[in-house]
Amino acid sequence: MGRACPVCRCVSLAPLQPVRYALFDDSSLPRKTVVARCAQCGFVFADSEATEDDYLRHYRVGSVYAAPQVRAGAGERPEDIARLAAACARFTDRLSVDALFVDIGAGSGGLLQQVRAATGCRVLGIDPDDACVQALRGRGLDAARGEIAADLAHRYAGQARVVALSHVLEHLWQPREALVIALRMLAPGGAVYVETPDRDGYAECANVPNYYFDPEHINHFAVADLSRLAVECGAHARASGRGRIALAAGISYPVCWAVIERGAAQAGMQVPATDAGTFDTFLSLQREAALQWRDAVRHCLADVAPPFIVWGAGSQTQRVLAQDVLPRGAIACIVDGDPSKQGRRLDGIDVLAPDSGLAAHAQAPVLVLAAAAAARAIQADIARRWPGRRAIDLSLGTQPAQAIHA
Ligand SMILES: [Zn+2]
Repeated sequence: MGRACPVCRCVSLAPLQPVRYALFDDSSLPRKTVVARCAQCGFVFADSEATEDDYLRHYRVGSVYAAPQVRAGAGERPEDIARLAAACARFTDRLSVDALFVDIGAGSGGLLQQVRAATGCRVLGIDPDDACVQALRGRGLDAARGEIAADLAHRYAGQARVVALSHVLEHLWQPREALVIALRMLAPGGAVYVETPDRDGYAECANVPNYYFDPEHINHFAVADLSRLAVECGAHARASGRGRIALAAGISYPVCWAVIERGAAQAGMQVPATDAGTFDTFLSLQREAALQWRDAVRHCLADVAPPFIVWGAGSQTQRVLAQDVLPRGAIACIVDGDPSKQGRRLDGIDVLAPDSGLAAHAQAPVLVLAAAAAARAIQADIARRWPGRRAIDLSLGTQPAQAIHA
């Protein structure tokens, strides 16, 4: 392992929990990471043998965010609109009609549309993926291809009134460098809006076991870390807070955010202390929930004859297949509705379109492996399109996790 703390660059870490993933055969991401805590500043992140280049290659291969039907954030569902409106309200007071708003990692453009509707200002989406850029332009939005690198800061230096890094920093090997670049793009009086998952909210927003340990999410921020990151970059958090994103089926997702301005904070403003206890409690509850989930799955599959079809090639399947819960030889194929996943192999198993997979294995029971909100939609889809097919929702692990609230 060899990653320094992405916030303070300290190289002394305390390992907290190993995590294994079964990945697509062509994936450059590590199959094994360790969730670790920085001994100096308390930040929590994924350490591994991987390099920054492994992650850059992964994101260059193709962004999943261009397909609005499979990912949140596109601004088309009522839950997305509410979430984007809440984010906008934290910074739109800075945007007049002639101001420029830049969204780095714009994906399918939900935030750009919301900001334009709320303020009438100029909006620009930057994304490393050409398909994303074309899709944004197709929706009438100004977009440019770009990676978070020095040339981006150079191209837009001093031009933007607000730069958003929304659900970007948790993916980056070097979040600190990304914030420095965003700060350089600011016009006088401008601010960078940062939003990430909130580590301190994981326990409160129950989902399938280990849901928050995702191969792509390698930084686990809490509000205090965003403030500290700002200070490390010669800036300060003018405002910050925590929130919840409503997903489908009553499931929520915890976020933390900060509005960051250039320059040192005024005297008297201090970076809040990092709280280790909340995450330690989450980890121990999570371990317990994962054990309960395994027992429940084994019980559930005791009278189900293989081979199975696994529905879902996302991070839940990537976590579960790395454990010994489902015998590998019992899986006929994996199916997923996302075209970018079809035709590939996940840990040596073919990933097919649902129609093809279910037709090829006409008698095979379907095991739904997805996060809690998505699993219910998949289950409903199977009941509608393949009535009579046995389908078992393995997100049932959400039930023990909800004991966290008790
Ligand atoms: Zn640190």
